[in-house]
Amino acid sequence: MLKIYLVPCLKDNYAYIVHDLVTNAVGVVDPSEAPPVLAALKAHDLKLTHIFNTHHHFDHTGGNVELKKLTGAKITGPKNDADRIPGIDIGVTEGDTVELGKSRAQVLEIPAHTRAHIAFWFGADNAVFTGDTMFAMGCGRLFEGTPAQMWTSLNKLAALPGETRVYCGHEYTLSNGKFALTVEPNNKALRSRVTEVERLRAEGQPTIPSTIALERETNPFLRAASRDLRTALAMPNASDVDVFAETRRRKDAF
Ligand code: ZN
Ligand code: FE
Repeated sequence: MLKIYLVPCLKDNYAYIVHDLVTNAVGVVDPSEAPPVLAALKAHDLKLTHIFNTHHHFDHTGGNVELKKLTGAKITGPKNDADRIPGIDIGVTEGDTVELGKSRAQVLEIPAHTRAHIAFWFGADNAVFTGDTMFAMGCGRLFEGTPAQMWTSLNKLAALPGETRVYCGHEYTLSNGKFALTVEPNNKALRSRVTEVERLRAEGQPTIPSTIALERETNPFLRAASRDLRTALAMPNASDVDVFAETRRRKDAF
């Protein structure tokens, strides 16, 4: 029912055009800027009806006002940050359902990168838009939340069905993978994934989407229980949250 197009924006952002094939409703998730989104809409002969924001940062909302002005699209974003989302029409929170024609997304509250950050989970279409909370082999910085909050947010995403495709806000995958190898050097799935990511990036290809199953196997920020990771951090008996916090601290300094 849902067709998804990647739209590279700014330096390393992705916006995503989501097209409900049944009704021709068309959304864009996290439009950093209007021009590349407008070009992609034109290339696919689509008319924008909806704008979805995961969080307030400019590189996820910068195109809101211009796109709304040109298309009349309605803007849906985190209710708990409505005052920081340019042009917002509809605020949503945990448990709300967002409709795009016949397609439906469930809203998940996943704070910590920002105090109100949401994901849009299109369950029937096996797709989740994770903004700057979960990246491929990475997670967002803790600007407005604690390690415990981020750990809870990431685990909420990790609990989605394994086949769920993960569409995140940035192409950070290669540097995330290089960091992941420093804390989990013996993870075979991680090593083969990094090799594949190096090949894709050498060809100028995106590494998105990944899947929840692949993230569970290779994303060090979901893997606080890993013995390999705990050995690398010299934290054999620490709590999962403390292991996560130390992993995040090391990534900040990587
Ligand atoms: Zn952000
Ligand atoms: Fe961002």
